[in-house]
Amino acid sequence: MLLENFRPQSKLVTKTTRVDRAKFPVIDAHNHLGEAFGGGWDKRPLNELIDLLDEAGVVHYVDLDGGWGEDILHTHLKYFKEKAPERFRIFGGVDWSKWESLGNGFPDWAAGRLKAQKESGAQGLKIWKPLGLHVRDHKGQLVKVDDARLSPIWEMAGELGMPVMIHVADPVAFFDPIDETNERWEEIGRNPDWAFTSPPFPPFMDILNGLGSLVRRHPSTTFIGAHVGCYAENLAWVGAMLDECPNYYIDISARLGELGRQPYTARKFFIQYQDRILFGTDSSPRLEEYRLHYRFLETDDEYFNYNTTDVPVQGRWYVCGLYLTDEVLKKVYSGNARRVLRLE
Ligand SMILES: [Zn+2]
Repeated sequence: MLLENFRPQSKLVTKTTRVDRAKFPVIDAHNHLGEAFGGGWDKRPLNELIDLLDEAGVVHYVDLDGGWGEDILHTHLKYFKEKAPERFRIFGGVDWSKWESLGNGFPDWAAGRLKAQKESGAQGLKIWKPLGLHVRDHKGQLVKVDDARLSPIWEMAGELGMPVMIHVADPVAFFDPIDETNERWEEIGRNPDWAFTSPPFPPFMDILNGLGSLVRRHPSTTFIGAHVGCYAENLAWVGAMLDECPNYYIDISARLGELGRQPYTARKFFIQYQDRILFGTDSSPRLEEYRLHYRFLETDDEYFNYNTTDVPVQGRWYVCGLYLTDEVLKKVYSGNARRVLRLE
């Protein structure tokens, strides 16, 4: 038998709690609706989506797929936001490809675009992981996450009251050599372009320290560190950044696997930073995915799959629930997002 065919079934006799609906209303602060990540919901009847969100108890949904061109942003604003303004908000983005032609004028141009996006109806800025990994300036130099030239963009976001959802780097193991010790070996095998082995890519901590200095340098801009502050493997590090930066928040999207395999540390982290954590799934709107998140946050179920797939995709381990209190749940499910997204 090949190791990849191994399907050990746990013989533990423990409880399985089914949580169909979250205990409190939910804001999904990190998700997608576009073609690439969200399944192209702009090409399906909107009612289908609203019914699904109703069933899951999701009262508000952040679609990060506005992109930067007029076309995608406007399509999403028209299709979701205009039809159900209380239900959706759409985040825009930065078109890094314009740096080459605009040269030194690029940062101001990008800040101006952000303003125009806001005027069109965008309510936040999504920064995707190419910043720090792939984005290059007009001289072909890799741009650091905390490159001072980009200040006009972050300052404009702060001025406009647009939160910046930022994802830099990726799981730590993606930066390690791809060998028999790599805990994400199977995942990288399925997605070879997710390997950022350093060198040639910058070391993981260089990128994360860049995020730290970026957030510190712009205290009047609100940043949300995607995927547990981009470093779910090290909650102490994320906590230190939250301690230091009152303008910094995190979301939990796509990281049940990391949080749930360190359940004692994660539970303490949720209690300590209960005012700074936003709910999100990053899975496109899927009922079973929501239910898995609710089970993880609400129950003390032990040793379960953190994905809805047969074999968990981020690594072959299982997780334990965090059984958070009602007070913490209310904040994580929606209270914090309400404040950060200015939903009041
Ligand atoms: Zn995402």
